[in-house]
Amino acid sequence: MKSMQERGAVFSRLGVQPIIHAMGTTTRYGGTMMHPEVVQAMVEASHCLVDLDELNRKAGEVVARATGAEAGMVCAGSTAGLLLQAAACMAGTDPARIRRLPDTTAMKNEVLIHKAHRFHYDQAYRAAGAQLIEVGSPKATEPWMLEEAITGKTAAFAYIVGPWYAHEGTVMYGAHPALPLPQVVEIAHRRGVPVIVDAASTLPPADNLQKFTRLGADMVIYSGGKGLRGPQSTGVLCGRQPLIAAALANASPNFAIGRAAKVCKEEIMGLLTALELYRTRDHEADMRRWRAQARLVVDAVAALPSIRAVVEEHEVNRPVPEAVVYFEKDWKGPSGKDVVAALRRGEPRIYIGQGGYADELWVNPHNFVDGDAQLVAERLRAALLHQG
Ligand SMILES: *Cc1c(COP(=O)(O)O)cnc(C)c1O
Repeated sequence: MKSMQERGAVFSRLGVQPIIHAMGTTTRYGGTMMHPEVVQAMVEASHCLVDLDELNRKAGEVVARATGAEAGMVCAGSTAGLLLQAAACMAGTDPARIRRLPDTTAMKNEVLIHKAHRFHYDQAYRAAGAQLIEVGSPKATEPWMLEEAITGKTAAFAYIVGPWYAHEGTVMYGAHPALPLPQVVEIAHRRGVPVIVDAASTLPPADNLQKFTRLGADMVIYSGGKGLRGPQSTGVLCGRQPLIAAALANASPNFAIGRAAKVCKEEIMGLLTALELYRTRDHEADMRRWRAQARLVVDAVAALPSIRAVVEEHEVNRPVPEAVVYFEKDWKGPSGKDVVAALRRGEPRIYIGQGGYADELWVNPHNFVDGDAQLVAERLRAALLHQG
């Protein structure tokens, strides 16, 4: 593996400093690094032109195979996927309605969402013209609350899975006070309401690529540039055939609200390649590598007095094994914030996580290449010792 200096040269020449990003797949810091095969597919796709409708049809077959859904498509990231989910549920394939969005006159336009699931990205449903109707309280939701919220105007029920960002800068972990997905599906389907799922950052574990469809969701989105390591500007949208047909009708290259979220043929081919790689990948080997990298970081700091460092993993909250550093009460060194700041100032810049449960520091090796774990371990130790 080339050095960070060599790998980042194209950015350094521009005056942009590369980052070792140890906080998982964060859009603001570039998501993930694409597999070389993905880049290769994009280069090949740049050598000629094709009919986008034909490409979308064939791409849909690949997405359907990988996700176990009836149908699928490549969209421009998960946020675009949310927009298309809402547009599909409101306008369907009706050309007049498609052209009218985000004006939803004479359409069902209410999207139900657990109050506890309101999040940064729900603007995307509203961008399509939907009105969000909150169900339940931040603490608890009862089935009757959902029953009561469904009306003749209900277009869909939006459901969020996985760790998600509830407040600016605060990662909220764990169970949320929402009804379980299968229960929402059962209630919604009894009333003819489709359930649209945001599973953007739920990969790994790889099983999640099929899980939510299996649980009865009508449409599901995943980001292409997170766990899948495809182009960051792509996403996977899969689900029931009529709804995917409607999503396609509301998407580029048509004159529709989704035209603003175009995916080019190179990105489509890149994402399909990433999806196929993911399907056949040795995910256990990935887990073993991440665990070893997290262990290396833990071992570098575990012996410091008043520090408790452990490797943690959890299917939902820490799907990628992480090195977590807790400060005990009698810790005399720098605060978690100071350590984070010191690592960000260094060369190269290293971004690690802080907080979540308490003041702990966490290192997520998802994006590590050879040598990164060692470098982060040394720099973290130095920063904790005030030497960084
Ligand atoms: C990352 C994320 C999105 C947005 O995904 P993009 O592909 O960056 O548009 C939406 N929802 C959730 C829960 C996410 O984690």
